[in-house]
Amino acid sequence: MKTLKNNTKKSIDRNSIIKSTLLLILTLCMMHSNAQSDPKLCLTDDFEVIPESLPNAYVIAPKVIWPIGSKITVSFLDTPSTKVRSRIKKYAQEWESYANIDFEFISGKNGDIRIGLKKGGSWSKIGILAKKVDKSKKTMNFGWFNDGTSEQELRRTTLHEFGHALGLKHEHQSPAAGICWDWPKVIAAYGTGANGWSEKRTRGNLERLSNEKVGNYSAFDPKSIMIYSISNALTTCDFEVKSTNVLSAVDMQGIANLYPKGKSRSIVGKLSNQYKWTSGWDNVETFESRGKTFLFLLKSKTGDVHINKLQNGAVGSKVYDKKWTAGWTTARIFKISLQNYLFLLKKTTGDVKIFKLNDNGTVGSKVFEKKWSTGWTNALFYKQGSGFPNLLLIKKGTGDVHIHKMNRNGTVGTKTFDKKWTSGWSVVETFVVNYNTHLFLYKPGTGDVHINKLNANGTVGTKVFDKKWTSGWTSASFYAKNNQQHLMLLDAKNGRMKQSYVTAGGTVGDEIADEKWTSGWTANNFYRSGINSYMLLLKEKDGQVKTFALK
Ligand SMILES: [Zn+2]
Repeated sequence: MKTLKNNTKKSIDRNSIIKSTLLLILTLCMMHSNAQSDPKLCLTDDFEVIPESLPNAYVIAPKVIWPIGSKITVSFLDTPSTKVRSRIKKYAQEWESYANIDFEFISGKNGDIRIGLKKGGSWSKIGILAKKVDKSKKTMNFGWFNDGTSEQELRRTTLHEFGHALGLKHEHQSPAAGICWDWPKVIAAYGTGANGWSEKRTRGNLERLSNEKVGNYSAFDPKSIMIYSISNALTTCDFEVKSTNVLSAVDMQGIANLYPKGKSRSIVGKLSNQYKWTSGWDNVETFESRGKTFLFLLKSKTGDVHINKLQNGAVGSKVYDKKWTAGWTTARIFKISLQNYLFLLKKTTGDVKIFKLNDNGTVGSKVFEKKWSTGWTNALFYKQGSGFPNLLLIKKGTGDVHIHKMNRNGTVGTKTFDKKWTSGWSVVETFVVNYNTHLFLYKPGTGDVHINKLNANGTVGTKVFDKKWTSGWTSASFYAKNNQQHLMLLDAKNGRMKQSYVTAGGTVGDEIADEKWTSGWTANNFYRSGINSYMLLLKEKDGQVKTFALK
C-alpha cells in the first residue's frame, strides 16, 4: 500500500476512496471531544457487515438508498429541547439542497427515521435499512446533544448522521483507501476510555472494506462530512484529518448523483479536449489505480504500447512506452481486489498472456501464459456477485463461447460454460442494472440483438431482450450515470450515434439521442477521473481523439 507521506494534501488527492452508499448497519460518528489533543473517537453500538453475497454493483442504490424523490418522515422518540430539535431539522434539511429527497419532520413517534437522544454515542442506520427496524425503536441517536452543545458540533454530527441515513458510508473505509493506520496504537486508543471497543469492533469501524462491500466511488475526499477526524498520532505516516462541520463539494456532488433531481437526456456534455495522434491504435482501455486513471493504447499491427495518465478530461503524461511483438489483437484490463491485470490475446495464434499492472500504471510481471486455439475475436471480463471476475470468450467465425472463472492471482481458472452459438456475434459487452450483470450481443451483419442475464455463477442465463435492429453498428458502450444505465451505439462507417436508456429489467428502453457524427470513431470509452466522468472517442484510421465531459 502506498503511504501518505510528505505533503499530506497532495498525497491524499492521489488516493481514491469510495464515497457512498453502504453497509455498516450501525456506524459511528465523530464524538464530541473537549480536549483538543484527544483523538476524536467514535462510539458505536454495534455493527454488522452485509454478507458477501451482496452483488458488487456499480450503483448499490436500490438496496440501500431511498427511492429517488422520497419523502422521508422524521420523528423524535425522546423529547429534544427547542434548540436541539430546530438544529437537527435545519442541518438535516441541508442535504435537500443537493439530494432529491424530502426530510419531513413530523410530530408523534412514527417517522421513517426515529431519533433518540439518549447517551450511547451518535449513530444512524444506513439508508433504507432503517425500515427494517422495529417501529418502536430508534434508527438514529444523538448521544451528546444538549443546549450547551456548540453550533459546530450540532451541525457536524447532524449532517454526518443524516448522511448515513441517506446511504453514505465512512470515507476512511473505502476499498481504495490508503490510510496508514498505526493499528497497534489505533486498537489501544479505541479500546480504552469512552469507547472501549474490542479489536474486532475497531477494525470493523475503521478498516478498509473490500470492493465487494461497496458500490459507488468518488475520489478520496478528506473534507467529507463522512470521514472521521484522524489524529496524526494514530498513523504511521505523516497523515491526519481535521474535523469538519460542513458538506464538501464531493459530498454535494455525490449525493446529487445518488438522488438526482432530474434525469439528463444525452449523457454527453461539452468537448473537453482534442488531439491528433498517429493512426493504428486499435485497442483502447482505461483503468483506475490508486485513485488515478490511466489510458492504455495498443497497436496490434506494430506492437506499440502507450500508457498515459488521464487527468480529468485531458490525456496527461505518458508513463509507459514500449514496442511489443506485433499481433496482439485483444487487450483487456480487469481488476481483482485492488490489483489491475492486463490480458492479451493473439487471435491468429491463440497466444494469451496476463500481466500485473503496477500501481503507477506501468506493466509489471507476467502471471499467465498459454497457447489456446485460434480464432477468439472477443474477450471480456465481468463480475457477477461477489466472486472473482469471469472471462467470456467468443469466436465470431464459429460461434464458440467459453466462460472461465478467474483465479485470485489473476490467472485463468476453471471453464464454467462451453457452448456453440450461431456465428457473427462481434459486438459484445456487459452492463449492470439492479445488481445484475447482463450480456449484450449484436451481429453487425444482420442486426440481431440479444441481451441475456448472467447467472450468479457467471454463466449465461435467461434471455431478456431479442430484437432485430438495423445492421452496421460497430460498437456498443454502456455507461451508468445518476442511477440510470445508458447504451451508446456507434456506426464507425457512417458516423451514426444513438443513445438509449437501459431499463431496470436489462432491456433497451427509450431512445434519447440519435445523431449524425463524422465517420471513423472506432473506440468509445467511458472513464471516471476525480468526481467527474468523461467519454473518450478515438479514430483508429487517423488518430483523432476527443474527450467529453459527461453531464
Ligand atoms: Zn458515522
